Order: sequence, then structure tokens, then C-alpha cells
Amino acid sequence: MPEITQGVQFIQGQDEFIPDSHVYVIGMPDSRDFSIVDAGLMGKGGYKIQTIQKLGIKLSDIKRIIMTHTHLDHIGCLKEIREQIPHAELWIHEDEANPIEKGDERGVYGMEMFRTMCQSQYGLKSGDFKFKVDRKLKEGETLDIGSLSWEVLHIPGHSAGSIALYDRSQKVLIPGDVVYADYAIGRFDLHGADGSVLKKSLLRLADLEVEVLLPGHNRVVKGVKPGYIRDTAKQWAPYLR
Ligand SMILES: [Zn+2]
Ligand SMILES: [Zn+2]
Repeated sequence: MPEITQGVQFIQGQDEFIPDSHVYVIGMPDSRDFSIVDAGLMGKGGYKIQTIQKLGIKLSDIKRIIMTHTHLDHIGCLKEIREQIPHAELWIHEDEANPIEKGDERGVYGMEMFRTMCQSQYGLKSGDFKFKVDRKLKEGETLDIGSLSWEVLHIPGHSAGSIALYDRSQKVLIPGDVVYADYAIGRFDLHGADGSVLKKSLLRLADLEVEVLLPGHNRVVKGVKPGYIRDTAKQWAPYLR
């Protein structure tokens, strides 16, 4: 079931001992204007590209890559994917776009220990996640792309420049790693994270009508029950300060 809802296709992450983020391909088929939301872990670019082709989407019709945030499990294979679609623009929230352009990778790895581990495990070097960002997204913008309309919500707390994409007409929410299925939320102990800020972001999402929840990992949910995000925020509130 790659098509989750009208104009949203799902490519499941292939987790290793580090998770690989899901990819959502958004855009109505006849628009020939597709966007990839997130990339994934190092080494997963080939899998993501092949899956997109199997869906019958032409790589030339992929116009941009939008990052929900720039943690390693989302941006790891960005370079691999961009080699296949060099024409695609890169869109990131301004609070993470600026560090990425400067080659400041603290937000990519989240913590020093993890950087050391990943650099030796995957042969990464500093500068591997330095990219030019074509569009720096801002809170409150509306992206009219692929015959769909997505609101950009800046929801920091898991990372400084986390965004959600929200399609108000279909009640579809792509929240990155801020909230998952099964009352889970993103971690808030990494560089740029803040529990009290995450709580505010969750409460903000709780005000939205959401029927389809498409997180960065784990299950996708169709038929989200009313109040689900608010209940999740409430359960976590004692820890989010
Ligand atoms: Zn994350
Ligand atoms: Zn993630």
C-alpha cells in the first residue's frame, strides 16, 4: 500500500542498528510535480530511488527534497539521492538550513559520542553534510506544490528546526520525529533539543484535526482517533520540562 492517501506515497525505512527514516513522496500523480519528504540513513539512497521508480514516478518529475529536520537518520543518504536527481531543490527550515550551509554538523549527529561512532562505522568525515539550501522554510508558509497545499509548522523541541507539513483539507500530518504512533514522541536530549519546547510543539499539533499521521519512523496511522496528539502530550508532560 504505497499510496496512503491522495497524493502521498509511503516508502518504509529499512532500519539497521540505526533507524532509517521513512520517505513520503507527495504530489498528485498527474501534476508531475513531486516532492520527497526526508531522505534516510547512509546507504539507503539506492533503495529509496528504486522504490520511487517502481511507483512509476519519473525522477525528472521530482522537483525538490523537503527535510522535516536534519538528523543523521534523515539526511544520511541525501547525497546519494541528490546524485540521482541533481536538479531537485533542497528545502529545510531556516533554523537548520543555516548550520547545514555552514557545515555545522552538531545538529546532524546530536551528540559528540555518536559522531565519533558513526564516522568510524560509516567512514564519514566532517563536511559530508554541508549542502546549499535552495529554500529556507519559515513558520506559517503554505507550500502549493503538486496540486496539494501544505502548511509549514515550525515545531522545535526534538531538534531546533523541526517542521511538520499539514494538509488541512485531507487532515494529513507529516510531523517528522515529533510525534509517532502508539503514544510515542521524539527524543529531546540531543543538540538543539528542549523538552519544554517540545511540549509546546505537541500542544500546538494537538489543536489540528488529524486523520492521517505520517511520522518519520514506525507505524503510519490512518483513522487517528480524535484527541490522540493531546493525549500523547499529556502522558509525556511530566517529563517535558
Ligand atoms: Zn530526529
Ligand atoms: Zn528520525
